[in-house]
Amino acid sequence: METGGNSLASGADGSKRKVCYFYEPEVGNYYYGQGHPMKPHRIRMTHSLLVHYGLLQHMNVLKPNPAREKDLCRFHADDYVSFLKKITPDSQQDLARQLKRFNVGEDCPVFDGLYNFCQTYAGGSIGGAVKLNHGHCDIAVNWAGGLHHAKKCEASGFCYVNDIVLAILELLKTHERVLYVDIDIHHGDGVEEAFYVTDRVMTVSFHKFGDYFPGTGDIRDTGYGRGKYYALNVPLDDGIDDESYQSMFKPIVSKVMEVYRPGAVVLQCGADSLSGDRLGCFNLTVKGHAECVRFMRSFNVPLLLLGGGGYTIRNVARCWCYETAVALGMEIDDKMPQHEYIEYFGPDYTLHVAPSNMENKNTRDLLEAIRAKLLDNLSKLQHAPSIQFQERPPDTKLPEEDEDEVDKDERKDPESDVNAVCERESSPGRATQECVEFEAKDKNDIAVDEPASVVDSTMIEAPSLKVYHARSKDVVSAFSEMTTLKSCTLTEETTTAASDAPQVEPGQEKSKKPNDQPEEMDHE
Ligand SMILES: [Zn+2]
Repeated sequence: METGGNSLASGADGSKRKVCYFYEPEVGNYYYGQGHPMKPHRIRMTHSLLVHYGLLQHMNVLKPNPAREKDLCRFHADDYVSFLKKITPDSQQDLARQLKRFNVGEDCPVFDGLYNFCQTYAGGSIGGAVKLNHGHCDIAVNWAGGLHHAKKCEASGFCYVNDIVLAILELLKTHERVLYVDIDIHHGDGVEEAFYVTDRVMTVSFHKFGDYFPGTGDIRDTGYGRGKYYALNVPLDDGIDDESYQSMFKPIVSKVMEVYRPGAVVLQCGADSLSGDRLGCFNLTVKGHAECVRFMRSFNVPLLLLGGGGYTIRNVARCWCYETAVALGMEIDDKMPQHEYIEYFGPDYTLHVAPSNMENKNTRDLLEAIRAKLLDNLSKLQHAPSIQFQERPPDTKLPEEDEDEVDKDERKDPESDVNAVCERESSPGRATQECVEFEAKDKNDIAVDEPASVVDSTMIEAPSLKVYHARSKDVVSAFSEMTTLKSCTLTEETTTAASDAPQVEPGQEKSKKPNDQPEEMDHE
């Protein structure tokens, strides 16, 4: 049923994938406040659809272990995490200065259980990464995650901690290269910034650009230093429809997969790019949005599916339910099953909705020009003498191939979190991947894009071509500079968040629902 895409790993393209699905029954109870467009209740609505479509029985359903303080501090500043931990609606009057400093209070309000909420959604994403690293599943899903705007020391755009960055850091323990793809209508700025100076992570964001939050994501922003050309931005305009969107997504993602050959992919499935979103201005249908999932899945690379934005919550639930079915390789009825939130989906009670008749401001010529520019940037990567992914000997063991060789019984070892990674990091000759730094070709490459937070010093010191051997161990060292700068502790210990969590039974969710009414009743 897949369309396009080349299988990079073993396994037939049409074969079933093992899916791990993370869900915390309490998540729907967190409440940003009256009139706030971000509604965690949409995660519970999605879950209810999954239950009643009978999809849970085809997945490994896991309750995420809450991310611990030290897990959050692998990316975030210690003082910021401490602040999130202590701030409450009652204490916020006394902490005005800190609220301002950490950008908490307006778009990112203080609400009851805020820190637990962060632990929950981050725990799901980190847990998904752990499951993928261990080969326990092919696809991990955490619809509560995908909060791509959060920064190291700052909340932004309804996001407090950046679960995506944390999950990618986890994936980097096993994988040489991780690809991040973002189809939220907003630029994936927090993730891009975190990995702007490294070639270990490539970020690709498709977003509305021009007088729109967060304002970043210019096509000319491509990365910095060793990360030059490893950030890719696809600026789009109002009203983009399924066909136009896929005319960008498929060729660009295909080229990225061919050139970059990631060991794992993280797909942020922000649903505010759907037609009729309360904050968005695109015109995608659920099928068009899900086509990105279908396409990404067809490459047969370990895949972490995350949520993100999405503010017309009935459509968010439709979208993420359908995308879960796509992950499973299942077709589900358009007619919705009876369930507790059915009244949201009237008058048709269908999974799919038609796009609107809004104007598509993305002309063919405009899209063609953007696509050509980005494919050209990617061809520079491919043809750069420094990038030898193409010439890599075919028998080089990639970490994900190692996973396949792990004895099945070994995988069930409850201690395997730590053991598996330590083994991987210490065994000689493993994952020796020839990589070469970029040569700084022109001064502009360095001067223009300097990020505020981190500068890759090796790039500055070694402007000429230099071959080095990247090993799994370097995963940690590559980011230890980063963490030193922000005085966070980065341990080599593997997080065990959610790796052996108990199962959630279908329909187990609770029903104290402060915001349990259709969002139409709750407009600003
Ligand atoms: Zn968004």
